[in-house]
Amino acid sequence: MQYSFDNSKKVPVAVVHCLDYRFVEQTNEFVRKELNLKGRYTPYTFPGGPRVYTDGMTRNVFLHALREISVSHHKITRAVFIAHRDCGAWGGSAAFSSLEEERAAQENDMRAAKKTLNREFPDVEVDLYYLEIVSMTGDEGRVEFQPVK
Ligand SMILES: [Zn+2]
Repeated sequence: MQYSFDNSKKVPVAVVHCLDYRFVEQTNEFVRKELNLKGRYTPYTFPGGPRVYTDGMTRNVFLHALREISVSHHKITRAVFIAHRDCGAWGGSAAFSSLEEERAAQENDMRAAKKTLNREFPDVEVDLYYLEIVSMTGDEGRVEFQPVK
């Protein structure tokens, strides 16, 4: 089987999201269809996604990768951070006393990560999204990507 690809060097966006297998395909579809990027982005898929920019153990390593590849080489103008409900990097939903507390903690961490990027790369706009589980029936769920202010 053969697959087509785009050899253009223009990759104006970096998308940072978690590697949680439950949500990778939905995230790719969201980025292609709703953000309309259709392959014109670099996916950075880490445990916890944007949380790597707030953790002292990982911040500098992942900032270095972003600087060397996306900022210096691809000349990105935008980064998209996506966090998700029940993310193991935050201990999952079970680590919080309520869904509201979980989401507030994750959104605060994403805002902190955005501040770090704004300081390091002032020309890169950062957009935040939260993958919310909007319904569950047994093991089948539905999710939606909600913008975070
Ligand atoms: Zn996760």
